[in-house]
Amino acid sequence: HAKEKGKNGFQFYKKALNVKAKVRLDFENDVRKAVTNDEFVLWYQPQVDMRDGQIVGAESLARWTHPTLGQVPPSDFIPSIEELGLIVPFTDWVIRRVGEQQQAWKEQGYRQVRVAVNISSKQFAEQHLPQKLRESLEGNHLKPNAFEVEITESVMAEKKGETEEILEEIKKMGLTISVDDFGTGYSSLLYLKNFPISSIKIDRFFVKDIIKNPQDAAIIQAIIALAKSLGMTTIAEGIETSEQFKLLRSMGCDIGQGYFFSPPVPEEAFAQLVKDDFCYIETK
Ligand code: C2E
Ligand code: MG
Ligand code: MG
Ligand code: MG
Repeated sequence: HAKEKGKNGFQFYKKALNVKAKVRLDFENDVRKAVTNDEFVLWYQPQVDMRDGQIVGAESLARWTHPTLGQVPPSDFIPSIEELGLIVPFTDWVIRRVGEQQQAWKEQGYRQVRVAVNISSKQFAEQHLPQKLRESLEGNHLKPNAFEVEITESVMAEKKGETEEILEEIKKMGLTISVDDFGTGYSSLLYLKNFPISSIKIDRFFVKDIIKNPQDAAIIQAIIALAKSLGMTTIAEGIETSEQFKLLRSMGCDIGQGYFFSPPVPEEAFAQLVKDDFCYIETK
């Protein structure tokens, strides 16, 4: 009896493992198919000038609706795309899509704002990034300032391949480069000096408690001072309340992004925000 039980127990355990492995495999297959079939869409989150409330840019953020799971967050599917070795074709799609979208907005008569594209650190093993950006810009008759490139600190820390040369070339083309999630990675202030960075995105982790936590406020104040002295722009991520907005504004932060202004929205909704000249200057 004991043996049978043990056997059953083992079988059950093994089966559970298989189910888990199968789910994972199915998910990866679905991600693979989604990349091949361009199943993703891009949403856009406004970036707002802290002084006058004008939209000066947007961050493009990938969205995926899985046939049975529904909306899957990028924090789940981006790592899978990277593990599957598909980040290059995926980012190629993002770069093409942002260019086409910018041209469409231009043709529809909307004021043009810069759109930021997230570039995974895994991307920097390949050298074609500047070329892909150029093709999308030229193919859609866009000026270089139609795009911004967001890299993370890990891009600079890992320094894969020709990272520095690639970034220099992108800068020479006239695009701006920002450092995403600043302060959370393997930060070295040297990177800011050695890489062609034009803006720093202060991670929302620091913004979150800025009102109650004087240490977070002090860190942000120091990042802003550093950026200013290096001639860089600061973008605060994850601004959710008017208190956070006002404090960051009084600290001299240049640009804000967060639910306080708007969550990421589909392309038509973003165009409408730009058209309405959506403003947040009621800041007494
Ligand atoms: P990220 O680049 O740091 O993007 C900002 C994230 O913060 C977005 O999450 C955005 O929706 C969220 N966010 C914006 N404002 C607020 C706020 O006020 N409060 C809170 N709590 N969150 C806010 P999302 O869209 O889920 O994306 C997560 C991450 O996935 C991104 O972080 C980025 O690292 C990655 N990702 C998204 N799209 C792409 C893409 O096209 N390519 C690559 N390589 N990565 C992407
Ligand atoms: Mg980003
Ligand atoms: Mg970020
Ligand atoms: Mg972040």
